[in-house]
Amino acid sequence: MERNDLRPAVFLDRDGLLIDDRGFIGDISDVFFYDFTFESLKKLQNHFELFIVTNQSGIGKGVTTAEQVKTVNDYVLRVLYDYGIIIRELFVCPHDFGENCGCRKPSPYFAYIARDKYGIDLSESYMIGDHKSDAEFARNFGGRGIYVLTGHGESHRDEITEYPVKPSLKEAVELILSEIKPDRLL
Ligand SMILES: [Mg+2]
Ligand SMILES: [Zn+2]
Repeated sequence: MERNDLRPAVFLDRDGLLIDDRGFIGDISDVFFYDFTFESLKKLQNHFELFIVTNQSGIGKGVTTAEQVKTVNDYVLRVLYDYGIIIRELFVCPHDFGENCGCRKPSPYFAYIARDKYGIDLSESYMIGDHKSDAEFARNFGGRGIYVLTGHGESHRDEITEYPVKPSLKEAVELILSEIKPDRLL
């Protein structure tokens, strides 16, 4: 595959970025999209493949089941789809911190899967999220991380020294779009 055939991606956290972080969500009645999520992702998908990467350690802790989390994720994808937004794939790490798995953010495991499966140019890709591990995920796959202050972002802001900090997904997307190289503009 020629390098030019590779597509850039934006990897998205779920809780605290796209939807309100209500702890370990096990029911769709606890899914609340931020009002800017739809407009922001619609702009983004004109230029980037979109993925969601979510750590759901509630499964490993026994707080939520894998089935509950799948139901919630399918609902999130369906609502986005109804707004015309295509998420190529949603990746879940179901493990608790102590399980020392290989797929929990900031491990770049799922970014490599996306690269190999969809032909993603990780060096031109981003990750946005409300935890340091989201920004580190981007650093670990060789892309650019953006930290947002929604969700848990405000309370952990002191941990962030080396990544751009934006109020929300809305401003993070504006930053990404401003960085698109002219030859990539459609
Ligand atoms: Mg989050
Ligand atoms: Zn894992």
